Amino acid sequence: MNIYDYSPRKLRNYFEYIGENPAKAMIIYDGIYRRGVRSFSEFNFAERITERLNADFNFALPRIVEKRECEDAAKLLLELSDGEFVETVLMRQRFGNCICVSTQVGCNMGCKFCQSGLLKKRRSLTTAEITGQALAISAVFDCRIDGVSVMGIGEPFDNFEAVADFCEIITEDKGLAVGRRHVTVSTCGVVPKIYEYADLPRPCNLAISLHAPDDRLRNELMPINKAYPIAEVMRAAEYFSDKTHRRVTLEYVMLEGINDTPTHAEQLAALVGKRDFYINLIPYNSTDSGYKKSSPETVSEFCAVLKENGVIATKRREFGANLNAACGQLRADYMEEK
Ligand code: SAH
Repeated sequence: MNIYDYSPRKLRNYFEYIGENPAKAMIIYDGIYRRGVRSFSEFNFAERITERLNADFNFALPRIVEKRECEDAAKLLLELSDGEFVETVLMRQRFGNCICVSTQVGCNMGCKFCQSGLLKKRRSLTTAEITGQALAISAVFDCRIDGVSVMGIGEPFDNFEAVADFCEIITEDKGLAVGRRHVTVSTCGVVPKIYEYADLPRPCNLAISLHAPDDRLRNELMPINKAYPIAEVMRAAEYFSDKTHRRVTLEYVMLEGINDTPTHAEQLAALVGKRDFYINLIPYNSTDSGYKKSSPETVSEFCAVLKENGVIATKRREFGANLNAACGQLRADYMEEK
């Protein structure tokens, strides 16, 4: 078993199961996440416990194979134990270091504008492989992690349990201690899982990739919409915000001539209505999908129309433009070189 797969609750359960004091779980957390301990012999536990831990757990982490860095962003390519690769990103924001983690190798959601979907899902990542991305970033760049976006490659809600455990690990006070409000899980709209997420004992933030204000356009851009149309997604988002008193983020990628007119903005504002949601306008990172990014003027006008209609909206800052850092690109480059 991999120790980094174990959420605080699961590690406490393990100690109970072997008949030892579950408080040891937090001693281990402090060691492995705060002090970088990679061996049980450093804990001064009774020998029988150390032996048992050595027999039951390993400390395997993804291997760092490539690093790219520019002023405000960095990216790592990691190799997993079975030879698959994942990418993880560090963005140096004004308020601190924010990382973006992947949750699957490839993705099956098939959004038309997204590079990740070009590689069909090969498998989901384990909790240790998601947590390992955070540990790799903090080790390579010797930095504290202040925020986490679960927005890398993959659909987090197609890997629910591993992602939920990752959220518990990353926010544990005795471990990496990232604030729950600084961890955001982004979904393309897997409705039943949005309810499940809202019902977790302590969920982190929720973002939903909306990208279109009506079902006809959203069906075209995002096949998931045929299973879970906009009205159902909005109902689920509302359930989350009612239950957690957190503001839901709706992500909206600005695609030139597709979803970026003032009329689209009005439709979007009407859809949000009085709900406590906010819109994050995302500049499209060009790929060879055929879609183009909207001009800055179009984005500003779109944002202004939202605001006139009483909807809170922000424009996402662009990071690492010269890093070739769009989802899936580092992996694609590495494969080509090979
Ligand atoms: N599957 C999840 C999380 C990963 S994608 C989701 O769909 O939310 C993270 C965000 O990046 C999503 O909003 C996605 O639609 C968006 N995205 C995908 N490709 C992009 C690109 N080339 N440029 C900008 N945003 C992109």
